Amino acid sequence: MSVWTAIAEHISTATGQPFRISGRRAVGGGCINSATVIQDDERCFFVKLNDAESLSMFAAESAGLEEIIATGAIRAPRPLCHGVSGTQAYLVMEYIPGGPARGDMALLGEQLAAMHQARAADYGWKIDNTIGATPQDNTREDDWCRFWGERRLAPQLELAARNGYAATLGRRGSRLLEKLPRLLEGHQPHPSLLHGDLWSGNYAFDSQGRPVIFDPAVYYGDREADLAMTELFGGFSPDFYRAYESAWPLPEGYAVRKHLYNLYHILNHANLFGGGYVNQAAGMIDRLLSEAG
Ligand code: ADP
Repeated sequence: MSVWTAIAEHISTATGQPFRISGRRAVGGGCINSATVIQDDERCFFVKLNDAESLSMFAAESAGLEEIIATGAIRAPRPLCHGVSGTQAYLVMEYIPGGPARGDMALLGEQLAAMHQARAADYGWKIDNTIGATPQDNTREDDWCRFWGERRLAPQLELAARNGYAATLGRRGSRLLEKLPRLLEGHQPHPSLLHGDLWSGNYAFDSQGRPVIFDPAVYYGDREADLAMTELFGGFSPDFYRAYESAWPLPEGYAVRKHLYNLYHILNHANLFGGGYVNQAAGMIDRLLSEAG
């Protein structure tokens, strides 16, 4: 049985309505998985495919989308089912056709602030997931500094050493981990539900112009980490930041902490892609060390 037959059967069972694929269209834009829109005469679904070992990644993505949807704050695709067929894992979700390229960025800011109001008792999440293709450890911690050091920076620095970047990042990284309590002194943020990978490729607007967020790497943490990432690769307008800040102002100290949070993503890029990201991470660590004094 082909993976597409298996997916069509799974959709039929999950929705209680027979589904037979009559059209299939590959979609570009993703970094990790291949994406396809499938349809019959009545319905469309968005399908991601990867190797069978990616099943747990898809299970975590599905749970992350559910977590975001449950807040009622912002639209995200509703996951339908996931599984394995032969050598491939799949994730099927609601297909959300794109609307205007430039939508209401202020509404995106407001809705993100509302999503960040959703809180947990601790930092972390009930399951581990991935950031890009890298495992992300969501073991719960009640101390934010410990969470950011042990569950975010340290695993990326260890991976960097295994990838051969110890000479550039080893000593610097250890010193930064020692200085972390100083950089985060007195900072015990609200454990907010985060998107976790909020770059400009992961939001869009639906056909009614409503904001949609895709492809999350959710956990509960400092909302500043989501905001910091929006600044890292650009693509978010001043309207977005104004609306976010007027809904829920950011506390003092964000201007320094944002580099600490973005370091995680730059280390991850260094581990995934190497190249200039290794030196960029080293430069960020040096600046943070000089801030820490
Ligand atoms: P990957 O996991 O490979 O990074 P993404 O989830 O980021 O893939 O999806 C790639 C692109 O496809 C997104 O940037 C978005 O534009 C689009 N997309 C993702 N999910 C949907 C969906 N459910 N409906 C419509 N378009 C989607």
